[in-house]
Amino acid sequence: MRNIFLGNFVLKSIGIPPKLNRNMYYVSKRMEIAGSHRLTLSYKSKCENLHGHNWIITVFCKAKQLNADGMVCDFTHIKEKIHTYLDHGNFNELLPFNPTAENIARWIADQIQECYKVHVQESEGNIAIYVKEEEEEQ
Ligand SMILES: [Zn+2]
Repeated sequence: MRNIFLGNFVLKSIGIPPKLNRNMYYVSKRMEIAGSHRLTLSYKSKCENLHGHNWIITVFCKAKQLNADGMVCDFTHIKEKIHTYLDHGNFNELLPFNPTAENIARWIADQIQECYKVHVQESEGNIAIYVKEEEEEQ
């Protein structure tokens, strides 16, 4: 019998669920970014006044396979896209939306293809987390 050579396609066609390879590489990059913002809110808040934070931003990336350079993604490219762009900036001028920690987390995730999760810590104890959910491969 040559059944041991059957591929996933054949197994699936005869009703046997193929084995999924769930191996994954993960990297994370943590950055401190000084930046100011003022929020537009539907209620009175001191956050409507321009103020600054030393944001602690952590970008989480993953890949099933490494790229040609043996990486999930280059830490330096994350730094250039996020830290270099935002550091010592006014987020209201740099970002095209109300710069809440949640919106910033979403924006960062959208800038980096391999990113699946972002933590944006605005101050000690206050963290917004955005997670990209993907459909399971069939
Ligand atoms: Zn703030």
